[in-house]
Amino acid sequence: EDEKRKYVKGKKLGEGTYANVYLGHSRSDPNVLVAIKKIKVQQQYNDGMAPDAIRELKYLQELRHPNIISLLSVFSSKDQNLNLVLEYLPLGDLEMLIRDVDRVRYGTADIKAWMGMLARAVWWCHDNFVLHRDIKPNNLLIAADGEVKLADFGLARGFADPGYRMTANVITRWYRPPELLFGARHYGGAVDIWSVGMVFAELIIRSPYLPGNTEVEQIALISKQIGTPTEDVWPGVTSLPQYTVPSEVTPVWGKEAYMQRFGAVGPEGVDFLIKTLALNPKKRITARGMLEHRWWHTDPKPTRKEDLPRKA
Ligand code: ADP
Repeated sequence: EDEKRKYVKGKKLGEGTYANVYLGHSRSDPNVLVAIKKIKVQQQYNDGMAPDAIRELKYLQELRHPNIISLLSVFSSKDQNLNLVLEYLPLGDLEMLIRDVDRVRYGTADIKAWMGMLARAVWWCHDNFVLHRDIKPNNLLIAADGEVKLADFGLARGFADPGYRMTANVITRWYRPPELLFGARHYGGAVDIWSVGMVFAELIIRSPYLPGNTEVEQIALISKQIGTPTEDVWPGVTSLPQYTVPSEVTPVWGKEAYMQRFGAVGPEGVDFLIKTLALNPKKRITARGMLEHRWWHTDPKPTRKEDLPRKA
């Protein structure tokens, strides 16, 4: 109740799948703008669920980083709804920029800047034992100074306990890695890395790279465009609960094929992309590996955040 009184709720900013978002400000300092995200909690799950969610979210409040949206406060309102008070990010998200092909121009240096911010956000999460599990352009919000911030930790869970069995039904389909599509119950940070690779590919071609309409189609697209997950490239994959691949086996594509389609970011950029899209999660580059990649040190330098393209 204390937390709730710290903020004043204003007009509705938007409506998402599972939340209404309102503009708000701090009661003590009206210049501090916030977004208040009111999660629609299903009635039958109300009992006992909200306190649980709040405990998890308290943990996210401590995850402070320039490229991660600040969770300023969490409270439940009298109707048992969960309210998240977030830093206000007024400039939309990366998806809006990617889609507005007619009005928004960007190049390799801009992509490198955005990818750098995303890589640092993911590294910070993983270093603090948090999986994001829903990385996509729509969840990369843009601050007034151009900084990109990873948002929507709705599905985030701690992964410190290695024996913890987690649900495989996470991550929006297009950004979902093969281990989750095959129903793996034990997974790790590699799931986020795959999503990072999909975002990178999408930034380059300005349309979703593998937009499957169903999970079966998603696996078919991965199999055709990246390579078929087989025991050869991924020992143990055929034992995953929902393993199934198209009958036509495609060998994993080499660098030349990626250069054809993604060559705009140069050979080092393409190397980075290939390493994020390793079928075998154990072979996939780690968050730390991303930060240590040579791509950051090749020309062009990443654009300074204040010079990045903005929504029209
Ligand atoms: P979705 O993920 O479907 O866009 P959200 O519930 O995350 O739904 O957000 C709904 C809308 O509220 C967004 O489209 C955006 O316009 C706005 N919004 C969400 N978070 C913020 C924020 N931190 N700052 C400003 N606007 C926000």
